[in-house]
Amino acid sequence: MHWVFTFGSKKTKNLSPVAGITVRRLRTPAKIVEILGGKGAGLAEMTNIGIPVPPGFTISTRACIYYLKKKEYPRDLLKEIKNGIKFIESVTGRHYGIPDNPLLVSVRSGARVSMPGMMDTVLNLGLNDETVEGLAAQTQNRRFALDSYRRFIQMFSDVVLGLPMEEFEKILTQEKKRLAITADNELNEEALARIIGKYKKLPETNPNLFRPVPQDPWEQLTMAINAVFESWNNERAKAYRKIYNIPEDWGTAVNVQAMVFGNMGEDSATGVAFTRNPANGKKEFYGEYLSNAQGEDIVAGIRTPKPLEWLASEMPKIYQQLENILKKLELHYKDIQDVEFTIERNRLWILQTRRAKRTALAAVRIAVDMVREGIITPKDAVLRVQASDVESLLHPILDPSAKYTPLAKGIPASPGATSGEIVLTSERAIKLTNEGKKVILVRHETSADDVSGMAKAQGFLTATGGMTSHAAVVARGMGKPCVVGCENLAIDYQAKQVKIGDTVLKQGTIITIDGTTGNVILGAVPTINQTMSDEFKTLLAWADVFRRLKVRANADTPTDAKTARDFGAEGIGLCRTEHMFFGEERIWAMQEMIIAEDEAGRRKALAKLLPLQREDFKALFRTMQGFPVTIRTLDPPLHEFLPRDETAILKLAQKLNKEPQAIKKIINQLHETNPMLGFRGCRLGIVYPEITEMQVRAIFEAACAVKKEGVEVLPEVMIPLTGTVKEFIVQKELVDKVAQEVFAEFGFTLPYACGTMIEIPRAALTADDIARYADFFSYGTNDLTQTVFGFSRDDAGKFLPHYLEKKILDADPFRVLDEEGVGVLIKLGVRLGRRVKPDLKIGICGEHGGEPKSIQFCHRQGLDYVSCSPFRVPIARLAAAQAALREKPSRPKKSFPAGE
Ligand code: PEP
Ligand code: MG
Repeated sequence: MHWVFTFGSKKTKNLSPVAGITVRRLRTPAKIVEILGGKGAGLAEMTNIGIPVPPGFTISTRACIYYLKKKEYPRDLLKEIKNGIKFIESVTGRHYGIPDNPLLVSVRSGARVSMPGMMDTVLNLGLNDETVEGLAAQTQNRRFALDSYRRFIQMFSDVVLGLPMEEFEKILTQEKKRLAITADNELNEEALARIIGKYKKLPETNPNLFRPVPQDPWEQLTMAINAVFESWNNERAKAYRKIYNIPEDWGTAVNVQAMVFGNMGEDSATGVAFTRNPANGKKEFYGEYLSNAQGEDIVAGIRTPKPLEWLASEMPKIYQQLENILKKLELHYKDIQDVEFTIERNRLWILQTRRAKRTALAAVRIAVDMVREGIITPKDAVLRVQASDVESLLHPILDPSAKYTPLAKGIPASPGATSGEIVLTSERAIKLTNEGKKVILVRHETSADDVSGMAKAQGFLTATGGMTSHAAVVARGMGKPCVVGCENLAIDYQAKQVKIGDTVLKQGTIITIDGTTGNVILGAVPTINQTMSDEFKTLLAWADVFRRLKVRANADTPTDAKTARDFGAEGIGLCRTEHMFFGEERIWAMQEMIIAEDEAGRRKALAKLLPLQREDFKALFRTMQGFPVTIRTLDPPLHEFLPRDETAILKLAQKLNKEPQAIKKIINQLHETNPMLGFRGCRLGIVYPEITEMQVRAIFEAACAVKKEGVEVLPEVMIPLTGTVKEFIVQKELVDKVAQEVFAEFGFTLPYACGTMIEIPRAALTADDIARYADFFSYGTNDLTQTVFGFSRDDAGKFLPHYLEKKILDADPFRVLDEEGVGVLIKLGVRLGRRVKPDLKIGICGEHGGEPKSIQFCHRQGLDYVSCSPFRVPIARLAAAQAALREKPSRPKKSFPAGE
């Protein structure tokens, strides 16, 4: 096995394997990156395509893993390092550790994935009291040689020896003061010599705190290599790996490379360049540089860099060469590159190239532009844009130039940013918005009771709850920003104020919530609006060619339905009818129905709701124009519709002409210990069939009326929370009976379907029985996750963050589908259902229907469609296409839409 691979020139293969060539035998680019790390693989590849790279060698990640395990070098590593140095010497004509024409090298980390700034780098190795003089003679620049030595001692002491830097900084500052200068590059030879002298004295005057930098260049080299190996396990790198899920056992490669100097005078510079604009994706070279400086000066921000365009006039020839290299690299890698370069005395060197990090906006534009330029195919473009990122392209976001300090942070449950006055009740939200004010509804948690206020508020902030809590689901459905589970938030409804840490905010205070990050900010932070760009539309049109899964939306109102259609939804997969009961006049009728003492009373109240629901359904059918519309019968526990506070109860009593005590008694009777597992779902329709009857009548009357207008309709009635086939049969018989009655009244029939949610484990386990009667299944993975884990949807926010922190769970199962548990039931349900009815239509309408990884899973299980909140429809279209492409990398048969 080889531990060391050279790059920068192909001419000395016999000394050491040449990176890129030898490693190419390993065939896959992924394998090369695995062994050489990202930086090393880039240097090898650049060598192969003739880019000027300072010669060097990469010590493989395997050597790092070996060293970290055994605390010693593998056999031959030292020999190969020496050969590597010989190789650099042979290319540069300089000699490591020899005062006459000395070679200096850098030692840098480079893991498989970029972990910017997390691990160590040491520059200018090979300098000592003798070689510094050689460097001065070689470069005819004593000031430069002393400056490099000064930098080297400081960096080595910091990175390799771990010495306290304050004393070094103090010495530097003293000298600058003495000369009355501010910048390091203004230090003259004498000052630099004095600084070096003082640095070297530190270990003599304080041996307990300081150690000398070794004079032996080989000792310097091995110590620096070891320090970089060990930096894989520093606290920063460990924390970074945890956040980004990078395996602990990858290790880092180490790149040892001939130094090139951007600080050799005004004909030298160092900088970074992007092949396109990484913020907006525009096709323009973008970057910055500093003349007469080394790389770390840019990072440290001591001097303000110049925009790359200036290089065109300062060094036109070099700029032209850089432009050609940037073009070549982008064409070679077929992706936007982030390139580090150094100009040493009018000679350009490239030190690194890597895939540039980019915003979602830029990602979409670059992918589409590159297809148009013939660099990549539509398939590449669709695969290249992260589906989870594109949601951010559709919601208003905080103005990136705004400055603010967050007051608190919660779970970012629905993206976008907005501001408004704090209101603590739904009623106040309605009142103030009717007066034209903007409000944020702040609650301990929300319930169905709050929906009318939520419909009016700009966004919601809750103290408890997780990704599928009521507030979160409603917010995503409405496309409004929402932050939930903000644990620092204490709400005092009586005092009409909230406390965040020590800050007390009265109702009426303006706050901003950012549902993309979870930040809560005092005051109004400006936001900017986003629309679907032409490039985004084009990318999604390509995605549609590849995907097999259909994409529907969870929508309850004509506005939601319209948004969903605009984003490309192919129907409604879930209309939660309960959300329609929350207008002023409707909630009364609903409450009257619940409070009624007998069936006659209930029917009287339901009769008031019927025309209202019918009109709602008509609007949905009209908007959906023949796409299927799945309408679910009433699902939540009834008490959610009843008032909670005293004044509201008194008001209701007055309205219904009843004693407040009688109302309170009913509310108490309806109280449940576990409402999510209580009297809800189809259980309501079984105990009170008149509710189902009214809803189904409203659906079919609406469908027939709209059909009569000449619009195609495709109603699908869905029964919630089915656990046994008999529950379903009872409800389906009612659906069929009412449908026939309405058809008879209208004098024509319509095709319709009646199916069920699969959201109780028992339903999945007996899916074959249910499939004999059901026309379709729709997985309600919110409830299914709740029941499979035994985690309450509303209370899991209390412990889930700890589970994630302790890695008991990799992801919030209410956000990313749990494939090993919930997924097994889905798989089983599909198999059992289709065994009985091979063409059984199966979809998903839980929150997971809009989450890319879960969508991939649904694709693999052979579902027919996913249904998600309207703003997630574009994500789902993209993720569904990516799922199809990852499964079978074949070219589509259909032709591509031309795009805008
Ligand atoms: C579900 O449980 O996944 C679902 C879609 O229904 P709801 O969230 O309304 O309970
Ligand atoms: Mg459910």
